[in-house]
Amino acid sequence: MLADIRYWEMRGKKEHFAIPHFNVWNAEMLMGVINAAEETRAPIIISFGTGFVGNTVFEDFCWMMESMAKKATVPVINHWDHGRSLEIVQNAYNHGMNSVMRDASAFPFEENIRLVREVVDYFHPLGIPVEAELGHVGNETVYEEALAGYQYTDPDTAAEFVERTECDSLAVAVGNVHGNYSAEPKIRFDIISAVNDKVSVPLVLHGASGIPDADIREAIRCGISKINIHTELCNAAMDAVRLNKDNTFLELERAVRDAVKQRAIEKIVLFGADGKA
Ligand SMILES: [Zn+2]
Repeated sequence: MLADIRYWEMRGKKEHFAIPHFNVWNAEMLMGVINAAEETRAPIIISFGTGFVGNTVFEDFCWMMESMAKKATVPVINHWDHGRSLEIVQNAYNHGMNSVMRDASAFPFEENIRLVREVVDYFHPLGIPVEAELGHVGNETVYEEALAGYQYTDPDTAAEFVERTECDSLAVAVGNVHGNYSAEPKIRFDIISAVNDKVSVPLVLHGASGIPDADIREAIRCGISKINIHTELCNAAMDAVRLNKDNTFLELERAVRDAVKQRAIEKIVLFGADGKA
């Protein structure tokens, strides 16, 4: 069933679990994570973004996302990740997404506020929640170099940011990066806790693939209530491709779908979302 992300993020915040956010851009990934949610009775977010348009035409794939979300017996949210402009997130909404992120985190503070506010003003009258990002979670690179110039979320400006944008959830930059980590992640739990003390909206952790399980549990304890996973689904799929390279394409496809499902189940259980649906 289609669900409201605000309900699940707030419930996660109160009950100390995180709703899993899975980036999906082909049938195997989509079916894999839906099957995982059904088997574990968990609410999940299925998500698409501009980074995947070179692989899949969103305007076609969205109907499969919507159909599977509606048919699922567990709560499913259709989300647009890292929206780079108002036009892009409007297009996402027009194609069935019921939650959007406007990511203007690469811009200076005032410009970030202005760009998020523009999207909030458009979407709140439509009942659609908006996620924003403060600080900047970088792309996959040499991790130690990324940390050297890292833009952590500033707890002191987080409250002003949330108040002025009226965003519904806040993605934080706390030592997390997208993609595979080239060194042990150093997550700043003190920043998560400090931001959580200053704002009332749920906090989101991007780039969670490869963060050790104990750190994920601690991040949830400190106030994270939505966690994004993409790279680990890709890694699980690639392991299945290598293991099944001598099988038929039909067999390979099923193996990939099952590998994605198994990895998604591990994350759902780690986040404490199993049995919550
Ligand atoms: Zn992200």
